[in-house]
Amino acid sequence: MLIALLPGDGIGPEVTEQAVRVLDAVTGDALSFERGLVGGAAYKAVGHPLPPETLDLARRADAILFGAVGDPDCDALERHLRPEQAILGLRKELGLFANLRPARLFPELADASALRPEVAARIDLVIVRETNGDVYFGEKGMRTTADGLREGYDIMSYNEAEVARIARVGFETARARRGRLCSVDKANVLETSQLWRDVVIEVSRNYPDVTLNHMYVDNAAMQLVRDPGQFDVIVTGNLFGDILSDQASMCAGSIGMLPSATLNSRSQGLYEPIHGSAPDIAGQGKANPLATILSAAMMLRYSLGKAAEADRIEAAVAAALAAGARSPDLGGRMSTAEMGDAVLAAL
Ligand code: ATP
Ligand code: MG
Repeated sequence: MLIALLPGDGIGPEVTEQAVRVLDAVTGDALSFERGLVGGAAYKAVGHPLPPETLDLARRADAILFGAVGDPDCDALERHLRPEQAILGLRKELGLFANLRPARLFPELADASALRPEVAARIDLVIVRETNGDVYFGEKGMRTTADGLREGYDIMSYNEAEVARIARVGFETARARRGRLCSVDKANVLETSQLWRDVVIEVSRNYPDVTLNHMYVDNAAMQLVRDPGQFDVIVTGNLFGDILSDQASMCAGSIGMLPSATLNSRSQGLYEPIHGSAPDIAGQGKANPLATILSAAMMLRYSLGKAAEADRIEAAVAAALAAGARSPDLGGRMSTAEMGDAVLAAL
């Protein structure tokens, strides 16, 4: 199986290196890695953040392991040359429409959560966010009103097919977990949400084993903080998912702990930590690699059909934390490589 390894910028190369060590340890020689340039590193080497060779590699690969993009040296570049365009380009070119962000608090890290420990301890959920539609991709512009005021607008729209395909990902994800799906919308106010709700209910007929409920997004935001333990899988649109997944991540502790997957309809996926390139700590061996190692576990589970190996990695991360492995973001002093060593030792 071919893995496109796209380390990118800042701490990206440091954290992906540890994930590759862990993948090699659990899969033997089943995976082959091919490295590609992406982000500011690609711009500096070849003048473009997403070179054609990298896109071609990503298309050929069974899965993509991605570090991070973002480089302060590139801040002044025109928008299409900036590192961040690489990830948007990959999402668009590969049709990666379903972003899965699990948020779970390892019990050892209870004091790192923004919530009270006994509330935080119950977080174990996945947010399934649509990433190819909604208000981000609708018509947008700036106009002048009759009174001469500037007025900005962004059209929010979803069609039935777009909602149905993300709903199916939500149901499949719930089926593979505790069998509960919460669909989040604002159907009391928005037409798009009315359609969303109708389509989710239609799709639910194919998943009688999954318990579905609906929640307005304002209530969902409150419930996430009040009692996150009530959620198993949340499925929602691009805008609501953007906000709720950042909120959930803070409930679950350090940004250095949380993985993500973005899938297309062929189960090909891009796997990356939710954090960015962290230029402030790049090259110092201070980055926590666990988010990337957990992303590698998601890759095994969702794109490579290796659930048992994924379980082993997740158990090893928990064991390493239990044994006291702590990088600086977790209040400790271990380096990026020592955190990788701790996971390998637990394996
Ligand atoms: P981006 O725009 O790429 O998301 P950002 O500047 O918004 O970048 P991050 O790069 O995620 O955000 O960094 C936010 C803060 O979190 C920084 O102070 C960074 O050092 C810290 N941070 C991010 N990732 C890690 C990590 N893996 N380990 C430790 N600290 C991290
Ligand atoms: Mg950020």
